[in-house]
Amino acid sequence: MSPIAHLIGSWLLGAATMNQRRDRCLVTFAGVLPDADGLGILVDAAQSMATGQDFIPVNYERFHHLWLHGGPGALAISAALACFSAHRFRVLLGGWVAVHLHLFCDWIGSRGPAIDDLWAIAYGEPLFRHPVWAWTGQWQLNGWENSCVFISLLALALGFTRVHGISFMEVFGSRADAAFSRAIQHWGRPRPDAETPKHPFARGCSSPELHRRRKWNTGALHGTGHPLPPVSRTEALMSCRFGVDRADASGLSPTRRSE
Ligand SMILES: [Zn+2]
Repeated sequence: MSPIAHLIGSWLLGAATMNQRRDRCLVTFAGVLPDADGLGILVDAAQSMATGQDFIPVNYERFHHLWLHGGPGALAISAALACFSAHRFRVLLGGWVAVHLHLFCDWIGSRGPAIDDLWAIAYGEPLFRHPVWAWTGQWQLNGWENSCVFISLLALALGFTRVHGISFMEVFGSRADAAFSRAIQHWGRPRPDAETPKHPFARGCSSPELHRRRKWNTGALHGTGHPLPPVSRTEALMSCRFGVDRADASGLSPTRRSE
């Protein structure tokens, strides 16, 4: 499966079992890090560009799915990440489960274009050559099955964010998480300040004082009165909230000004 699917899936595991952000992030990293053994492809690309020769993924095929996609890799990743955690044993266990969730996802959905282009899990690598597991019904890497799994994981993660106010964006930083979570939680819901009038003549503000003042100024445009100073925001909110009596008491009504 794609690294994004691994990230969201392992974050859900961490979010369901860890209380602290750092521990959740470490479990998420554990679910993504096995694919770091595929970074040899960058070396292959750099060699190809430097020498001008055809691109041949020698390092990619030599290390990918072998160094970090087995039992020894799972232990190394989870133990290394647990050193940075607040609850070491819990993160060690969570990271170990996250790596195996990654291995399971690769086992069911990493086939190449050809029907026999299977990605096997060599669980003993790089220390032992056996056991090696391959599923003949393996889904294609970019097949619809993997798309369905990704959409389901994303829906679950967004639902979790909606309810609990934390998101998988926390692996990129607290600010990114806060902005993303706020957007998800407010999506489709009225804003908290939606009922507060923002303008003196905002819809729903039916103060007689404001109505009379607007009428007065409109008349002034036709030469039937004198224009009044514009309504300030504070005055408008006072009038909306307390009605004409309080506005009159402030000495700002047209009646008081015309005296
Ligand atoms: Zn993988």
